[in-house]
Amino acid sequence: MDNAINLSFEEKWEKIITCDQTYDGLFYTAVKTTKIYCRPSCKSRKPKKMNVEFYEDIQKVEAAGYRACKRCQPEIEHSPHTQLIKNVTTFIMNEYKQRVTLQDMAEHVGLSPFHLERLFKQETAETPRTYLEKIRIDKAAHLLKHTDFTNLEICYEAGFQSPSNFYKVFRRLKNCSPTEYRNLS
Ligand SMILES: [Zn+2]
Repeated sequence: MDNAINLSFEEKWEKIITCDQTYDGLFYTAVKTTKIYCRPSCKSRKPKKMNVEFYEDIQKVEAAGYRACKRCQPEIEHSPHTQLIKNVTTFIMNEYKQRVTLQDMAEHVGLSPFHLERLFKQETAETPRTYLEKIRIDKAAHLLKHTDFTNLEICYEAGFQSPSNFYKVFRRLKNCSPTEYRNLS
């Protein structure tokens, strides 16, 4: 499976189980038994894991013979800015391990930082910065559950520059410390 956005099959599966809207537009869930494809956030009953394949490109999922889900309507772009937002979120998904500034994101899509921030907030109700933090914390949460890396290793692996910032942001988004999160069953 294509890993262009830095998410493994297992991580994509986790996103669809929680109906996480953060990843809408970045990949599609295709169900082999029904030949229907969905957004990650679709609230329809979840397919069996063995019946799922993921696509990152809507042309490819349609070319493979899948039809759009009537409930989440993955083929419909809800705004003229959908593609631009997707370019920003894809950039963030691919660069989260590095230091990424608003300026970097703005340059990537050819907007001023001010304009990008305003547009991104209008479209997603988040700022590019909080989106980046969410991606990093999701990555950290995945590593906490699926690897033996130490908290410090995970901090840097997820793109945080300092442990204190990592712990602060982690607690804000997950309401517990990384160690507590790891020990949750
Ligand atoms: Zn759907």
